Amino acid sequence: MLMKRRSMLAALFLLTLPLAAQQKVKSVRLYVFDCGKLKSGNPAPLLERGITTTDMSVEAFLIVHPRGTLLWDAGVIPDELVKPEGTVEARATVSTTLKGQLAAIGYKPADITYLALSHNHYDHSANGNAFAGSTWLVQRPERAFMFPDTPPATPINQSARWSELRNSKTIILDGDYDVFGDGSIVIVSTPGHTPGHQSLLVNLKKTGPVVLSGDLYHYPAERELKDFTPFSNLGDAAQETVSKAKVEALLKQKHAKLWIQHDIVADAKLRKSPGYYD
Ligand SMILES: [Zn+2]
Repeated sequence: MLMKRRSMLAALFLLTLPLAAQQKVKSVRLYVFDCGKLKSGNPAPLLERGITTTDMSVEAFLIVHPRGTLLWDAGVIPDELVKPEGTVEARATVSTTLKGQLAAIGYKPADITYLALSHNHYDHSANGNAFAGSTWLVQRPERAFMFPDTPPATPINQSARWSELRNSKTIILDGDYDVFGDGSIVIVSTPGHTPGHQSLLVNLKKTGPVVLSGDLYHYPAERELKDFTPFSNLGDAAQETVSKAKVEALLKQKHAKLWIQHDIVADAKLRKSPGYYD
């Protein structure tokens, strides 16, 4: 009787578990999270070149692999400040939390094996601290910039939102990195925008290969108009040009699609979590 009740309880317990986290996936899944919108800080040069939609999307992604999970980027406003009716902070508007979107598919921060930020900027790293328990995948020069030996006189804007990553279990990268060791998920080193900026190649069975841009590009026009580099002032322009050429060659070689994370027009057409790409 006791055994029977126990097994019934076990069955009930299993039924109530959120599906995704408990299912061992057989192939890679890519979930897209809506992390809000960002107004352009300087729309004039964009408008001059015919870019009439200057607002930007903010995205984060969860990759679920048979051997673990990877969160790519971490939003623009920390979840604690996000109200259901929407929160505006400077140029950003957010109305859905990252942790809420993870929970809806059965994940909590403790379930995230790896955290990788495309780069440290505030619009990609706002929930960094929430994932300090994951293993952080970061390029050596990016970490050195984020946590310099001698703290800068003026601290990096919003650095308190990711400061706990300093003590995270960390894998320091010196270039490209095959996250799960099977070639399916590869961090592509694309410095320039920041010292250790990175992009992500995700090989999906049905969808095909996709490269998540980080901020290598902000608008598709940056690819078409070769002389149009409205963000080159933010980092090392020469390095960024080399990184763009590297990714363009990779896209060609793999027949991969480029997903520009800030491209709000493309973002509107993406399937959002709880749907996924596989
Ligand atoms: Zn950005």
